[in-house]
Amino acid sequence: MEYICRICNQPRPESAFTEKSHSLHTCKKCNILPNLRTEERNQLDEIFKIFIQTRVSHKDTVRLKTLANSKDPKVSLHAALILEVSQLRPYKKGRHAFLEKNYPDLAQKIEEAGLAYPQYIKASSD
Ligand SMILES: [Zn+2]
Repeated sequence: MEYICRICNQPRPESAFTEKSHSLHTCKKCNILPNLRTEERNQLDEIFKIFIQTRVSHKDTVRLKTLANSKDPKVSLHAALILEVSQLRPYKKGRHAFLEKNYPDLAQKIEEAGLAYPQYIKASSD
């Protein structure tokens, strides 16, 4: 089974993740470079943290709108995706199944960006 790292966007086998990096959706390689943190990396992390909260607040939505206008294409893409998701479904619970059923294209984009691991969600909820 492969997972997409949300930083390098490469599909990686499970062995490329540690338990911690897996929960962050970053492969080991991307996870061990805190000294090379760029503004892009910090903003991508910020967006991911908003996405995995129980609920996306109004304040977070405002922040996502700002980041969606970023000149950085990856930050802008991730922020726009999470903004769209949060407007459809601010609550995390049951969100993935909801998106897969009603907005499969959006669910697919989120998976391709490495923001959601549907296999993992299904496996852990069994
Ligand atoms: Zn990576």
